[in-house]
This record gives sequence, structure tokens and C-alpha cells, in this order.
Amino acid sequence: MRVIMRRLRAIMAEPSDGQARLDKIVKQIAGLMVAEVCSIYLRRQDGSLELFATEGLNTSAVHNTRLKRGEGLVGRCAELGVPVNEPEASSHPAFSYRPETGEEIYHSLLAVPILRGGALLGVLVVQNRTPKVYSEEDVEVLETTAMVIAEQVVAGAVAGAGAAIAAERTLPTMVQGESISDGIALGHIVLHEPRVVVTNLIADDVEAEQARLETAVQALQSSLDDMLGHEGLARAGEHREVLETYRMFAHDRGWLKRMGDAVKEGLTAEAAVERVQNSMRARMMRQNDPYWRERQRDLDDLSDRLLRVLAGKTGGTAAHSDLPGDTILVARTLGPAELLDYDRAKLRGLIVEDGGSQSHVAIVAKALGIAAIGQAAGVIERVSTGDAAIVDAESGQVHIRPSPEVVNAYSDKVRFRARRQHKYAALRDVAPVTKDGVRIALHINAGLLVDMPHLAESGADGVGLFRTELQFMLSPTLPRLDKQTEVYRAIIAQAGGKPVVFRTLDIGGDKVLPYLRRHGEENPALGWRAVRMSLDRPALFRTQVRAMLRAVGEGELKIMVPMVSTPSEMDAARALIDKEMELARKRGPAPSCVQVGTMLEVPSLLYDLDALMQRVDFVSVGSNDLLQFLFAADRANPLVAKRYDTLSVAALRVLRQIVDAAARHHVPLNLCGEMAGRPLEAMALIGLGFRSLSVSPVSVGPVKTMIMSLDIARLGEHLRALLDSGRGTLRPELEKFAEGDSIEI
Ligand code: PEP
Ligand code: MG
Repeated sequence: MRVIMRRLRAIMAEPSDGQARLDKIVKQIAGLMVAEVCSIYLRRQDGSLELFATEGLNTSAVHNTRLKRGEGLVGRCAELGVPVNEPEASSHPAFSYRPETGEEIYHSLLAVPILRGGALLGVLVVQNRTPKVYSEEDVEVLETTAMVIAEQVVAGAVAGAGAAIAAERTLPTMVQGESISDGIALGHIVLHEPRVVVTNLIADDVEAEQARLETAVQALQSSLDDMLGHEGLARAGEHREVLETYRMFAHDRGWLKRMGDAVKEGLTAEAAVERVQNSMRARMMRQNDPYWRERQRDLDDLSDRLLRVLAGKTGGTAAHSDLPGDTILVARTLGPAELLDYDRAKLRGLIVEDGGSQSHVAIVAKALGIAAIGQAAGVIERVSTGDAAIVDAESGQVHIRPSPEVVNAYSDKVRFRARRQHKYAALRDVAPVTKDGVRIALHINAGLLVDMPHLAESGADGVGLFRTELQFMLSPTLPRLDKQTEVYRAIIAQAGGKPVVFRTLDIGGDKVLPYLRRHGEENPALGWRAVRMSLDRPALFRTQVRAMLRAVGEGELKIMVPMVSTPSEMDAARALIDKEMELARKRGPAPSCVQVGTMLEVPSLLYDLDALMQRVDFVSVGSNDLLQFLFAADRANPLVAKRYDTLSVAALRVLRQIVDAAARHHVPLNLCGEMAGRPLEAMALIGLGFRSLSVSPVSVGPVKTMIMSLDIARLGEHLRALLDSGRGTLRPELEKFAEGDSIEI
């Protein structure tokens, strides 16, 4: 290997042009590997492979022989991106005979892909007359040579190779993911973790390179330890798992040894990382198992991180780089805090390979109003920074380098959405009153400070649900009293006099606070969460209440308690709140009024509604949880989440029962689950008697439009009849009613 490195270095050092260098390379490699043939094929824009240099085949075939995409063993190597090692090439079913090259007399063939940052540039081939299986070392020699060739091609040194360069990342393509935050965005790709391009391949001083590699590996290992120890803990569970896998790989002896060996053979530390990455990728790609594909992505990420350490670009995400004004951010995984690190004004869209709709980054993307797609496997390897892209979070599609027709179609869509937004914006100062004169209160759900501007923009009546746990989830450590007070104060200030209902911590279940000890629970949704945790850890609860009391000063405070399952839990929560109120009064000016309400999300309360109503100042139905428990269908599991309909008689009868109980006790009632944000569902809720809804900010316009086209008296009568006689879901009947009555749903 060292000999090869020396020769390659000598060739690179000579003042000749790219073609002459390729010719010399094939000659040298053929000689050193005792092969009759050595050839270089480079990829053209259309995916075909053109013979660019050869030792052993007819030279007249150079620049004439072209293999179609996937043609022959060489094409196969290019398609799969892995080495092809064939002792009997000419009898292989994939062999493609090209008379002009005179190659049929050769038996064995070894082809390796010429790769650059994962993109395929061409194929390097050796052939022998005698049938043989090439050794591991032969493969390594060719892979190293392929890297040197890639370097030449990318540097533009190979005349005429322009058309052959990396078609991989130049053609339009589409990736299907899952929408995690609605919207459509046209813009340009920015990779959250930028790639490092290795330019210096051959080492001048092997020992110095060894030392560089060792230092970089150590730095990588300790940065992963650090992230897992401190900052990483602030991130969502899925992120932690990824980091743990990285750490495992970063200590993998096999990986470290291979890179060390490559440096000993004369590669620079960067080139060693890349070569090992390429060859391990090839090996893993051969396994058709999703597990190995996943590990390959881990390894790619880790290698990229190591390259960044070597390039001195540690911690360098793109957040503080010069972003285009229409950034579409692409990340494998992204924590909510990392997303908030970006300048919102420049972010149009987000694509995350891993994030699901329940992930924390999805919550933040929604709060920021960015079109976002998760579960978009394979995006990273298909894009480069600067590529045009469209994020269609209506259908979950990502269009990369879209054709002009696709861009036009989407520009129309974006204009249509903008017109609709314009229409909703025009309704901002119009009250949601039905045609027969009933005023419906319309609030927004919020959870972060960045949500608050939506209140004024939408013209909603207030914040019907402020999910305080989001702030806790984003913080690396438990927010102290002062910090909490400051946040609540800022929220109240931004609400500009409109009411805000603060929900106390709803953690546990899927919402994990990394700094609070987690108990292994078999059914976390039914586990130690929300008010249960608050009552068992009163100090935590009281600190939060104290912060809220301080934040409102002498104003009014509305506190809502989540996941209450018995009326007595309300008594216990209120007792703690009362104690804090007493302390507040002693301390100085205290709130003029504190209202304590409950979320109604646990079915047991349905059978104790009178007792509950007597203990609360208001009730808000959390239909997301109430229906998940009622139908025993996990809201976060897409396999079961759609097994029931929110408009089924079972669900609507339950809701009617709640409306009746609240009316009996004159308790103000609201509903703040997702169903309230869908116009048809909102219509049904109003028909049942709800007069207050809390929806995500984007739903205010559509729901208000529906309300303004509605005649409540007619709807109420119709719904009552349907509920008494109906079965299963009432969706079709309600749709028909809406259509017949020209209700805008
Ligand atoms: C609900 O359960 O309906 C609700 C609004 O609360 P969350 O979605 O935060 O559980
Ligand atoms: Mg809930």
C-alpha cells in the first residue's frame, strides 16, 4: 500500500493535466496489482458510465464506450455503490459484452465505486485473465485510488469530465415523509450539520497524521460523553438513543483500527476516515436488512462528525452561518432547542429524517409556524446545501431540485394558501358570532413564548390552554422559581390583557423531563404523570404555582390541573394552591382572584361529574386524552389512533353529558383538544352546547369562518335527533347537514 501511495503522490505532484494523470494512474495500478486491465469509468449526467482511461483494453474505446445505467458488472457496482468482486466475470449473468473493448478474454473483475461525500462519480475496475477472487487488500488499494481519482474529478482537473460529475445529487427527486407541522414552503436546502469535503488525501508525515487522528477521536468521544452527560439530556428521548449509538460506535475498536491502518498506509487522517466510511458503507449496504441501513446512517453521521473535528469545525451546526432567506433546514435529528437556535425570519421549512409528529421538535416547528416533515428517510444523502426544495407538509412530500412544472404547481398552491390566510386575517377583528347571534368564545392553545404573537394575529379571545410543560421540556435543568416567574410574566405581558389559562405541569407519560428521575413504567400514559406527580412532589407543584402568582401580580390568575381522575385530587391540588395564595398575601400584593379549573381527560370523572363540578371554577375537556382513554387507543400510535372517530355517537354522547353537567352547575366549559380545531368537529361541539373552544392558532380562521356561517338552533335540533337514534359515526350525516345548510367546513 505504501508503494501505491508513493506512486500516486508522485503522479499528483507532476505538472500534467487530468487526463494524463488518469492514464498514469491506470498504468500504475495495473502494474502494481499485476492486473492485465485497469480502467476508469466516469458517470455522465444521464447516469451512463463513460470509459475515461484504460490500461489493457483497446484505447480506441476510451470516450467511446458508454455503459447504460446499471449495465454490466461495472454498472451494477455503480448502482449499488459497493465493490463487485467476480472471479468469473464473463460468465456472470450481469456481464455485458462490449466487442470494441476486447474484454471477453478476461475472467476475473474487481470494480469499486468512485465516491465523493456519498455521491457516485464513477467506477474503477481491474481485470485479470486468470479466474481469481481479489483480496481484501486489493479492494483497499482500489478504494484508496478511487478516492484520489474522485479528488481529481471534483477539482475539475479531468478535461471533459464535466458532464460526468456526480449526477447523483443533480436530478429532481421526491422523498415521502410524514407531516409534522402544516404548511408549504419553497426554498433552499441548508444542512444542519454541514459536510466537510476532504481535499488533502495523501499524507506528508504519517506520524503527524496518526497523532491528528488520535486527538480527533478523543475529542469526538469526549464531546459525545459531554452531550449525553449535560446538554444531551435536555433533548428528546429519540435523540438520546441516537447519541448513545454514536458513542458506542465511537469506541468501536474495529472502526478505530481500520482508520489507524489507513493512516499507516499513507493517507491523511481525513482521507482515512472517508475511506473507512466508504468501505463500511459498502459492506453494510450489502445487508438488505433495515437494521444495517440504520447503522450505516449512524456511521455516516459519526464519520462526518469526526471530519468536522479534524477540520476544526466542532459544534458547527449551520445555525450561525450565513443562511439564505428561504432556508429549508435538513437534519437527521434535531432537538427543540437546536431549532430555536435558528433565525426564525429565515426559516421556511424543516425536514427531519427521524422526528415523528409527537416529537418535541414538531411542537416547536408548529409554534414557529414552519412547514415541517419528519420520518423522511434518505433525504440527507440526496441533497447538498443550496439545492432548491419544496416542503409539502400537506401531503408529507419533499421535492428536491424540483422541475419548473412542479415549482409552478406549488407556487399556485402557495398563492392559494396565502389568499386564504389573507381572508382569515381579514376576520381578525370580527367576533365569532353565529348567524342566529350566538357568540362563541374562541381561544388559542399555546406553550411557548414564540406562540404568543399568534394571539394578536388571530384575534382570538385569549389563551385557553397554556401547556407549561413545554418550557420545562426545553430547559436543560429544572427551571427555578425566578426563571419560571420571568417566563409567565412575559406570557402575560404578551397576552396584552387577554386571559391566559395556565395548565400546571403535565409531564410523565410521553413527556419526559430528562432531569427528573424516570421510573421504568410499563404503561406510561396510565402512569405517574401530571397531577399525580404534582401531588406526590408538592414542592415542584407549589414552586410553579408560586411563580404564577408572582407573575400575575395583582391581576387575575387561572390555573388548570391536568389528568385529574377523582374529584378528591382537585381538593388536594386546591389545598396546595390555597397555601401558596396565603403566603403570597403575606408577602405583599396578591392576585385579586385565582380560579382553579380542571382538565377533563379521564373517563372515571364522567361518572362523578356532579362532585367534580362542585369543586371547580371551570372545566376544559382534553379530548385528545379523554378519547384515547375512552376508546383505549393510544393517541401517539398511528396504527390505532384512527380506529375510532371523534364524531361517533359514543364520543358525542359523552361530550353531551359533560355539557349537561356543566350547565346544571353553572360551570364555565371549554374544549381544548385537537378536535376543536377541525371545522366539522367544532360544528358538532357547538351543536352539543359548547360555547367556548380552544384551538391551535392556525385553526382560528377556519373555525371562525364555520361559526359565522352556522345557525345553531337548526343544528342543535338535528344533532339531538341524530344522537338519540344514530349508531357508529355521525360524520356522513353531519357533513350532509353542513352542506345542506351552506356551513363552511
Ligand atoms: C388533551 O388531552 O386533549 C389536551 C389538550 O392536552 P394534551 O394534548 O397536552 O395532552
Ligand atoms: Mg391531555
